Amino acid sequence: MSSDFILEFHDVYKSYDDLSGTKLVLNDIDLQVRKGEFITLLGPSGCGKSTMLRLILGSEKPSKGTVMIDGLPAEGPSRDRGIVYQKYSLFPHLTVLDNVIFGLDLEQFSQFSRYLQPAKYRRERKKHQERGAAMLERMGLGHALYKYPHQLSGGMRQRVAIAQAMIMEPKILLMDEPFGALDDNSRTDMQLFILEQWERTHMTVFFVTHDLVEALFLGSRLLVLSQYYTTAKDHNEGSKIVTDREVPGGFPKPTSFKNSPHLKELLNEVRRSGLDPEFARHITEFDLSHRDAMRTVTPEEWGNGQKEQ
Ligand code: ADP
Repeated sequence: MSSDFILEFHDVYKSYDDLSGTKLVLNDIDLQVRKGEFITLLGPSGCGKSTMLRLILGSEKPSKGTVMIDGLPAEGPSRDRGIVYQKYSLFPHLTVLDNVIFGLDLEQFSQFSRYLQPAKYRRERKKHQERGAAMLERMGLGHALYKYPHQLSGGMRQRVAIAQAMIMEPKILLMDEPFGALDDNSRTDMQLFILEQWERTHMTVFFVTHDLVEALFLGSRLLVLSQYYTTAKDHNEGSKIVTDREVPGGFPKPTSFKNSPHLKELLNEVRRSGLDPEFARHITEFDLSHRDAMRTVTPEEWGNGQKEQ
């Protein structure tokens, strides 16, 4: 089945059971993402950003509803979704090159085939090494092929983690606060680095961050997921997408965007979008201005409202 959208959420709910009962984390999420979009996802701590990533990755299933990747349900992790975490995705005992080709090797060879067909194993592995080296070269890491992770700076390690995910040519690159542990300078370098990679490949990126400037600078489209909103009901449970909008200023943006007066205005606007309980918006006032955004309002939430697109 083919779809206009590389990623879709249809009426997705996710709840967890704990000692105090069942807790709804994601409340009726609808989302449609086109190939090549650079999505940035912001939200208060605990709103369910990582949960959303796990649903896309397929490592968890929705309690209700469907997550689709390129027209098919996301069932279990697969090479069409790559992920970069804030830390710890590299194997300390492997060189940069071996870290990058680890996924390719794993996909092609079982422990058995390495011993049963050593010549084939050596031949294929050489191909992987050439492919890995060419990729690292293109990413400006040609000098680091035989270094080990502990010999690299934090920023370099994250470049290698990005190469490790990208070599599998995923349909979607998921990033979970990937630059959150870096100092300001390395973080800026890495932001430019990921935009360069996007310009080269036009891959679809789903990038979670809690840094507003980073979200606005990097994204072509901004999502805010939040548990802070109001409806006609006395009590809400679970987060919704309270903002789904294009990020103004073009894409990718020049670094001068970070010093533009426009940014300050935009920051204030986004801060008031549900990142702070004080500024909880009513469900009918969500900024769902993106052309693919979906407005979900149930009759209880809005009195006589209904689900519309
Ligand atoms: P975020 O990434 O936005 O900080 P998370 O997705 O990590 O939020 O978590 C959202 C909520 O779901 C939190 O309240 C968290 O405690 C709860 N949660 C996440 N995973 C589990 C789990 N496996 N079991 C129980 N509760 C969970």
